[in-house]
Amino acid sequence: MLDYIEITQVGKKPILNPPRREASGSTMRIDAATRANLELVCTMKGERRGSLLALIDKTVTGAGGREIAARLTAPLTNPEAIHARLDEVGFFAENATLRADIRKALKSCPELARSALRLSLKRGGPRDLLAIRGALRSALVIVKCFTGLKESLLQHPANLVRATRILQSADNDLLLKLDAALGDEVPLQARDGGFVRKGYLPELDELRSLRDESRRVIASLQARYADATAIKTLKIRHNNVLGYFIEVTPQHAGKLMQEPHNRQFIHRQTLASSVRFSTVELNETQARISRAGEQALALELAVFEELAQAVLAGHEGLGKLAKALADIDVAAALGELALQCALNRPEVDESHAFRLTGARHLVVEAALGEQGETFVANDCDLNPSLENRGQIWLLTGPNMAGKSTFLRQNALIAILAQMGAFVPAEAAHIGIVDQLFSRVGAADDLARGRSTFMVEMVETAVILNQAGARSLVILDEIGRGTSTFDGLSIAWACIEHLHETNTCRALFATHFHELTALSEKLDHIFNATVKVKEWKGEVVFLHEVSAGAADRSYGLAVAKLAGLPPAVIERAGEVLHALEQTEQHKAAQNLIDDLPLFSAARPEAARPAAARSPVEDMLREALPDHMSPREALDFVYRLKGELGG
Ligand code: ATP
Repeated sequence: MLDYIEITQVGKKPILNPPRREASGSTMRIDAATRANLELVCTMKGERRGSLLALIDKTVTGAGGREIAARLTAPLTNPEAIHARLDEVGFFAENATLRADIRKALKSCPELARSALRLSLKRGGPRDLLAIRGALRSALVIVKCFTGLKESLLQHPANLVRATRILQSADNDLLLKLDAALGDEVPLQARDGGFVRKGYLPELDELRSLRDESRRVIASLQARYADATAIKTLKIRHNNVLGYFIEVTPQHAGKLMQEPHNRQFIHRQTLASSVRFSTVELNETQARISRAGEQALALELAVFEELAQAVLAGHEGLGKLAKALADIDVAAALGELALQCALNRPEVDESHAFRLTGARHLVVEAALGEQGETFVANDCDLNPSLENRGQIWLLTGPNMAGKSTFLRQNALIAILAQMGAFVPAEAAHIGIVDQLFSRVGAADDLARGRSTFMVEMVETAVILNQAGARSLVILDEIGRGTSTFDGLSIAWACIEHLHETNTCRALFATHFHELTALSEKLDHIFNATVKVKEWKGEVVFLHEVSAGAADRSYGLAVAKLAGLPPAVIERAGEVLHALEQTEQHKAAQNLIDDLPLFSAARPEAARPAAARSPVEDMLREALPDHMSPREALDFVYRLKGELGG
């Protein structure tokens, strides 16, 4: 990377901070598919609007926006660190005036980190210096907000105390210097000059007044020449090629080329619409102006360089300041969000609990709100120790009932809680989730040569191979992309694997109602269903999740709602009825009742010692490195002997 920077930035190496070690496991692992499925920072269509980030991002600075996105994509796994963040959010949620004052100060706080970076790359200009001055000023205002409170600073949440200390130690000398040197309106480029405040350098002021005075001299020259030649339209103009010149229309030009004027006016250029002249006096004035201008610019550039160096010298402190400002912005924004969206503080600890009461899906709730509808809050409890509750919920229910919404809302709440934000639930108790997996919805990946079903299976494989006891797994309709029996078998085996091997907390939504029979055979499976009501032959979605299993999918009712032609709906009804009567259907039911559970694939560790063969035990204990060739041969004979061969 250093080589790359060396080559691409040619001599303008940015200031680099030493690398920081990030302990593995310090953040929740969320794989790419899960990230995309849960629409954390952008929707499946790749838009920011509609994502969770777009909804929760109430920050007012660019750096704050980047920080909140970073936190959302890397939730923490250390309860202490999470609580420290939650303390800040709670503090801001409670202190409305302080929150408003600080957000106001931050709103006018310019982008500090990027300006410092541009200056270090020698691509910066006076506006970057102005930005740094603005940020330093905002820091002072924010410190005043904090220290102006009744209680002492030390009673604030620890993270805020730390951030305030950084703000307090901001480089005051640099601020004084920038304040003294910079004007309030500055050009983009240093070479345009005019950014150093009047009164900062007496020498510069002198040169500037000389330059400005000379400009006045030019104006009086123009008046004098117009008088002397009796040409009212005579003008003195300036361009980059000729510098200052006298310009008259062609009809007056002849006069200047004749006695007595031709002794004073020197012809320079003839154009279709004008003729240009100069005089010795004009040239001298011009030389004076440009000398003063050049000297003034040189002085300004020196001031710029000195200030830029001062910024670079303090870059470490400025970096910390930028981070502290971003952190405060995020905490205040999350406090604001907590009030706006009625969020509550979650309890996060090292347990394996996952208990949410009255939980909501923020994005769906907002979308429903726009249409004047209300969201139905639901509970979820993935606690294996509770009676009649399981650590794996098998969720059945009609199409459109809200299964996917329920699955996602639980995953999103885990993320929000661990990023240190309040959550859309009346109460939430979450035992740290170290890995989050989700398989929701189907998408082709034709560009990479994968069909819908293949994508589904690849993602499921990742989950089954990697999920551990602290993972949270969300599986939505596994096995729907293939034939019914194939799908059912895969879904069945996946649930068994999650239950026996992964032993993780999981939510599994399915239309294979046959699977609900599993709850009688596996201890930690709990059947839940999303309720609907039938009313005058129509389905009414209640969106309420409760214990139990759905007996049908109401797929036809949803198809009717979607506008499938009545003839098709009617015919589908007939086919469905016929299918439900078939022997094959009943056979599937019976098979599920009879099938022994998960015997073939039980993992090694879970198998009782008695079930292992003595050969395996001998092999496990053998130390090949300590055997002579002779002993090895003997060992092989003994193994064969054990087999009885
Ligand atoms: P399918 O089985 O067809 O995939 P589903 O059961 O997964 O359907 P969702 O996609 O979760 O259903 O929800 C369908 C719609 O129902 C949502 O777009 C939303 O408008 C509404 N909805 C879902 N949950 C709720 C809720 N808790 N309160 C109010 N409306 C809800």
